[in-house]
Amino acid sequence: MKNSIYLLLFSILILSSCTTKQKEEVSAKYVEEFHSFAQPNKAVIKHMDLDVIVDFDKQIIKGKVSYQIEHQEANEIILDSKFLNIEKVAIDGAPTTFHLGRMDQQLGQALHIKLKPKTKAITIYYETTNQTEALQWLSPQQTADKTHPFLLTQGQAILTRTWIPIQDSPQLRVTYNAKVQVPNALMAVMSAENPKERAIDGIYNFKMRQAISPYLIALAVGDIAYKSISPQTGVYAEKSMLEKVHYEFADMDKMLKAAENLYGTYAWDQFDVIVLPPSFPFGGMENPRLTFATPTVIAGDRSLTSLVAHELAHSWSGNLVTNATWDDFWLNEGFTVYFEMRIMEALYGKDRANMLALISQQDLAEEIEGFKEEPEKTHLKLNLKGHNPDDGMNSIAYDKGYLFLRTLEEKVGREKFDQFLKTYFEKHAFSTMYTEKFIAYLNKELLEKHQVTFNTEEWIYQAGIPSNKAIIESDKFQIVEQMLVDFMKTNTINESLTKAWTTQEWVHFVRNIPKEMTTKQIAILDKKFDLSHAKNSYIAMVWYDQCIRHNYHENGIDQQIETFLMTVGRRWYVSTIYTALKESEQQDKALEIYKKARPNYHMVTANSIDKLLGYKG
Ligand SMILES: [Zn+2]
Repeated sequence: MKNSIYLLLFSILILSSCTTKQKEEVSAKYVEEFHSFAQPNKAVIKHMDLDVIVDFDKQIIKGKVSYQIEHQEANEIILDSKFLNIEKVAIDGAPTTFHLGRMDQQLGQALHIKLKPKTKAITIYYETTNQTEALQWLSPQQTADKTHPFLLTQGQAILTRTWIPIQDSPQLRVTYNAKVQVPNALMAVMSAENPKERAIDGIYNFKMRQAISPYLIALAVGDIAYKSISPQTGVYAEKSMLEKVHYEFADMDKMLKAAENLYGTYAWDQFDVIVLPPSFPFGGMENPRLTFATPTVIAGDRSLTSLVAHELAHSWSGNLVTNATWDDFWLNEGFTVYFEMRIMEALYGKDRANMLALISQQDLAEEIEGFKEEPEKTHLKLNLKGHNPDDGMNSIAYDKGYLFLRTLEEKVGREKFDQFLKTYFEKHAFSTMYTEKFIAYLNKELLEKHQVTFNTEEWIYQAGIPSNKAIIESDKFQIVEQMLVDFMKTNTINESLTKAWTTQEWVHFVRNIPKEMTTKQIAILDKKFDLSHAKNSYIAMVWYDQCIRHNYHENGIDQQIETFLMTVGRRWYVSTIYTALKESEQQDKALEIYKKARPNYHMVTANSIDKLLGYKG
C-alpha cells in the first residue's frame, strides 16, 4: 500500500479540461496530498504579491493577495482558506465568481475561483478573523520591553492558509513580493530580504527571490532592532534583548561556514535569526533567510545554540529539499537533526555532539514507550490522512530519523555518506522529496553503488528501533550516571566534579534521576545546587518535571513552575510539565494554571494542551 499509491500516481496521465478540442495530456507533477484542497496538477500558483495592512487595534491583517498562475486552460483554481473573510476575487483585474466549500475542522475550506482559458493572474481581497490560527497578537505586557505590541506568524504545518488564502501544500513553491504596512513605531520582517532599520512611514517592501513552500512564508512585527554578526549573518530582537542575543549567537557565521563545508553552498544569501517573545510555540522555525527562535535558548553561556545549528541545517533539508507531504516529515527533520549534529561536531567536537545524540536517543526511547499501544506511530513514514499533521511532529521524525541516518553513515563510512548527502542536496535543490523516491535514490546512489546491504525498509516502515542501530557513547555521561548511582546509596555527591559540567551533563543528570529517589534526596540535591532556581530554561524544565513526579514542594518550586507556565509558551517545555502534573494525579492543579496561562499561548501550543488536559474552554 505505502509504495503503490505514489507509483500509481506517477504513472497516471491526467487529462486537461474539456474546453479544448484536442485533449492535451499532461503528466502529473504533484503527488496526492491529504492536507490541502488544491489540485496543482490542474492549476497552480507560481508567484505571490501580498499587499496588506497589519491592524493591531482590530487584531486583523487586511488587504489583497495576487498570484501568477499556470494551468492548461483549467476552468477553476482551488486554494486553501481557513477562518478568512474573502471579500472579492478578480482574474486578470476583472471581477470573477468564487465559492467556498464545506468547512473541515482540520483543513478549512476550499476556495474555488473560476478561470478563463487564458487567465494568468488572480487577486483575492480578504481579511483575517479572530479565529486565525497562524497569528499571535501579543500585548506589550507579553513582550520583553513591555512598551509595544508584537505580532508573529507560524505557518507550519497547515496554518499559512489561516492568514493568506493560498495553495497550502508543502510540495508547491512560490517566489513572493510583499508590501506590509504596520504602525510607525514598529518594524516588520519576513522570510525574505529584510530591512535593517525601521521605516519612518511604517511601510515595508519585501522580496523573496528563491521559491519556497507556503508553510515557510512568515511575518513578525514588533519594536525590534538588528545587529550584524558577519556580513552574511545577524540577529533581530527587542531592544533590551539585542546585546544578549548577539552574544549568545556569536558563532552563527562559523556554523554557516561549517555547514557549507559539509554539504555545499548556502542557497539563501542571508542567514539571520529573530528572537521572539517567550510565547513563541517552538524552539525555532526555519523560515528561510530569517529563523524564528524562542528566547528560552538565551542561556547566557551559549550552551543551547544547537538550536541555531538545527534551523540552519534546514536551509538544506526542509527548505531546499522539502518533504512532499506531511507523511514524509522525517525527510525534513531526521536529516536536519543529523546535519545539526555534524555542525555541532565540526564546531565543538565529537564529545559534545555525542552528548546531544544521547539526549536525542533518550527522547526517542520515551516517545516509543509512549506509543507502545500504537506502534504504527513509530514508523518513519506516517499515514496522517484524516489527522492534523501536527500529530506527526514528535521525536520519531527527528530522533529515529537521525538514528537511521547515523547508522547508515557508520555502515557505509563517513566519506561515502557525505558525498552522497552533498549530491542529494545538489540534485534535488528547490524541489520536493517523498519517502519512496528517497529510497530509490538511496539504493541507486549509495547502497548499490558501494555494494552495501541495509535494512532501509525495516527502519522506515516498521515500528521501534531495528537491532543494527548505531551505538553512541559518551564518557562524560557515564560519569554522570555513576554519580547518580553513588548518590542513591550514600546521599552525598562530589560537588567539585560538577563544577565544569555543561548544560548537557546537567540535563542528563536530572533526567536520569530514578523513580526510587526519595523526596528527601531531591531536597538534598536542591539544597546543594538550587536547581529550583536554575537560570537555564532547559535544566529548569527537566528539573520541574522531576519535582512534580517526586512530589517535591520545597524551596519555592511550586511558584517557580507556575511562573514558568505563565510566561513560556514553547510547546515542548510546557507540555512536558503539564504531562508530569497529569500523570502525578495533579490534573486539577494543571487545569487551574492552564486556565490562567492559556491566553499567553499560541494556538499551536494551546491545541496540544487542550487535548492533553481534556480542556474544552
Ligand atoms: Zn526542525
